[in-house]
Amino acid sequence: MKVYISATLRNFFGKHHVIETSAGDIRSALKLLTDEYPDARTVLFDKDENLRSFVRIYVGSEDRTSTDMWYKKLSEEDDILILPAIAGGASSDSIINDARMKAQTLDDNEIKRFEKHLLLKEISVKGQKRIKAARVIVCGAGALGSPVIQYLASAGVGAIKVVDENEVALEDLQNQVIHSSRDVKRPKVASAKDTVRNINKNIEFEAENTRLDAQNIEQIFDGYDLVIDCTDNYKMRYLINDACALLDIPLVFAAIYQYEGRVGIFNHNGGPCLRCLYPEPPESGLVPTCAEGGTISPLPGIIGSIQANEALKLIIGIGDHLDGKLLTVDSLYLQSRILNIKKNSQCPLCGLSKTILSVEDFDYDDFCGLKESEDEVPVEGITPEELTKRMDGGDPMTIIDVREPHERAIMRFPNAIVIPIGQLARRMKELDPEVDTIFICRSGKRSILAINTLREAGYEGKMYNLKGGFDAMKDLILSHEGAWL
Ligand SMILES: [Zn+2]
Repeated sequence: MKVYISATLRNFFGKHHVIETSAGDIRSALKLLTDEYPDARTVLFDKDENLRSFVRIYVGSEDRTSTDMWYKKLSEEDDILILPAIAGGASSDSIINDARMKAQTLDDNEIKRFEKHLLLKEISVKGQKRIKAARVIVCGAGALGSPVIQYLASAGVGAIKVVDENEVALEDLQNQVIHSSRDVKRPKVASAKDTVRNINKNIEFEAENTRLDAQNIEQIFDGYDLVIDCTDNYKMRYLINDACALLDIPLVFAAIYQYEGRVGIFNHNGGPCLRCLYPEPPESGLVPTCAEGGTISPLPGIIGSIQANEALKLIIGIGDHLDGKLLTVDSLYLQSRILNIKKNSQCPLCGLSKTILSVEDFDYDDFCGLKESEDEVPVEGITPEELTKRMDGGDPMTIIDVREPHERAIMRFPNAIVIPIGQLARRMKELDPEVDTIFICRSGKRSILAINTLREAGYEGKMYNLKGGFDAMKDLILSHEGAWL
């Protein structure tokens, strides 16, 4: 039979964390151990030979601290665990109620697997049971989702549902550590599922290979305790925020850009929501997304780990949370700060007079500027193939590259005039209205903004947007024997 000793008591047991004994019950096991380690006797027992109140004895998941259980015969397979008393244990702040916690049991394998949690007095058996009872949704199996999903699985969260409609791309492997080279072109949720199975096959894992929208989000979130936002675009973030507020599910939010990350908890304990912090997203295309702006590889690991840590604290009910706060981390200059977010009484979602009562009635495309308004003239596009053909044919045209300097360093266009969006109106005279002008950015979104900016400034020449931007052009450029690199 094995006896497990918690970290705080190990110094009294010759630094052992597990001791093999031939004893057949708790009483004789404790006698044998304390005979061998006399120091341990004075720690575990008072002068009247009573077990001290801060020590608890478990056999498997059962509390056998009471001495009348000590004579019960144990088998060779039973494990005894000696650990400090559950000083208060999980607080009432946990998002998992006591009934659900009590319905869980931990088997011997789990006691071993989660030993490091059981040894923390704030977590202990009750906390681990809450973790096991918890049902968590992770939106996005990309950069932030990678650490979040893996840590939640490792920590023993009982049910994890991951929603993501994308496939793994080669460039994802730089920071999406849940996927590996052989997963390229596979659905991200399938790859994530394999990784989670390898960590712990007892976790209930649901892979939703779908895109969240106003029609499916409530049904996907239904029955879950916590949502973790690991997405990368504003439309999704507001949709998730709104669904969480309407369904009354707390939300652990995080975002990353280049070297900087942010984490916060929305919609918890009457706290603010994303709309309280940012009533509106930035104009479409104005701020590059993380995919366009780049990120240093470990940043999502840092930020996602904090997200997972906040999620576990909410589940267990311990510590200070980031609700009503926003943690910002600058990994380049190693600075972090915690900002307080005020709940906005005018918030249309969680304020005093709510106007958003259903996600299905809200136009997220319009709100995020993703829809062309009716009086707006649509922007004409040109495909990479058409552009290549025109370039090879020597057609007269002007190519304008509106990307940021660091993006151009990777791949540049020959003969392209470089004009950041902010300077376009001022430098309009560099364009020849007699020839076609092609606008290029990374993904084909900021170039639309560029064309609309020039239209507003009164430019009347013919303008085309390179469809899909550089991303769509990459293969063609590379097949041109590096001529354009
Ligand atoms: Zn709000």
